[in-house]
Amino acid sequence: MKVITVAHRPTAEDEVVRLCQELIRIDTSNPGDNSGPGERAAAEYVAAALDEVGLEAKILESHPGRASVVARIEGEDSSRDALLLHGHLDVVPAKKEDWSRDPFGGEIADGCVWGRGAVDMKDMDAMMLAVVRQRLREGRRPPRDIVLAFLADEEAGGKYGAQWLVEEHPELFDGCTEAVGEVGGFSLTVPGDKRMYLIEAAEKGIAWMNLTATGTAGHGSMVHPDNAVTAVAAAVARLGAHEFPVQMTKTVRAFLERACMAYGVEFDPRDPEACLEKIGPLARMIGATLRHTLNPTRLDAGYKTNVIPQTATAQVDGRYLPGYEAEFFSVVDELLGPDVKRDFVYNDQALEVEYEGALVAAMERALLSEDEGALPVPYCLSGGTDAKHFAKLGMRCYGFAPLRLPPELDFSGMFHGIDERVPVDGLRFGVRVLEHFLDHA
Ligand SMILES: [Zn+2]
Repeated sequence: MKVITVAHRPTAEDEVVRLCQELIRIDTSNPGDNSGPGERAAAEYVAAALDEVGLEAKILESHPGRASVVARIEGEDSSRDALLLHGHLDVVPAKKEDWSRDPFGGEIADGCVWGRGAVDMKDMDAMMLAVVRQRLREGRRPPRDIVLAFLADEEAGGKYGAQWLVEEHPELFDGCTEAVGEVGGFSLTVPGDKRMYLIEAAEKGIAWMNLTATGTAGHGSMVHPDNAVTAVAAAVARLGAHEFPVQMTKTVRAFLERACMAYGVEFDPRDPEACLEKIGPLARMIGATLRHTLNPTRLDAGYKTNVIPQTATAQVDGRYLPGYEAEFFSVVDELLGPDVKRDFVYNDQALEVEYEGALVAAMERALLSEDEGALPVPYCLSGGTDAKHFAKLGMRCYGFAPLRLPPELDFSGMFHGIDERVPVDGLRFGVRVLEHFLDHA
């Protein structure tokens, strides 16, 4: 009998788990200023992993230690529009004592890789690296140019990452008309052993607002109708109690129609929330994409009990639907009234792209190639991602970081949560889907 031995070459599926573990072990906590460890060590790790397979990567620093990595893979046909694949390297901080395992240990237990960033989003960083490394080792080029970006500072709005690159180095993204990043591609188990895969095609806008009331300062013992504290408190109460009506964007409507179908519920546009109770913990997020929201988060005024201050301030976290921005702010201003002024702590656009075309078809086909019970659906993210920055360069942005998840895992609760972890099988599945996707993207 003849035994044929083949020299072992690591495949993407072999590598992805190790890459994810090693990225988690590099602490890239982002406290929101420059006091954290920064992304430099993770950027060097990523650049070395690409260099090892012959791809030259640039490390770009916006501030000492705040580093992103960008590389371009030449495709078969470089005259075609390019595709951006982006992930962020930073993570939100983690309090070790709250966790069952070391948040920066990258341990494997109960079939999962544990640690801060396991789902947000060192999992996808590792999947991108694993797939690209295998393809480059085998000399397989993608159909068109692909730009890879591993970014700093997403968790604090991207000022030192995507925003800085888009403003200072837009040439790195020349020719990119479409982008794929977080948050999407994960599964939600529905009846009949099927899984919806949520592909992000929209994001709400962010309006973090500062409210200021100005009155007349004075003694707390006197008759004093012009009180800034009363004015700001009343405005905060009006904003916080306001119930916005349901306004279905095309993405949310498409999601609800398909979700209803998956659960065998008839879709009723007059009661679009009927199927939400079926989808479990994810309803918290999906519910927030049916309407604008306003949540007061901070109050500040005064310095002594018997002194009426001249000004009082509050902060409100407002999130608006794509296509309804002007309407949102006109309601806010009406609720504020003439005595309370607003300005922005942070404001960034809402996004919505068409859920159609070759790229969407490639995502859907890639999912179906690995899961015949896949039901891909577009959805709107209630939060924001780096997509907001890349959209400013005219890119159509989607969230697609494919993961097949066990039915019992509260995936949305993993984001920024305690005991964040990603199933090993999910990572391997993601690699196979991404591999298929890149052949047709
Ligand atoms: Zn993220």
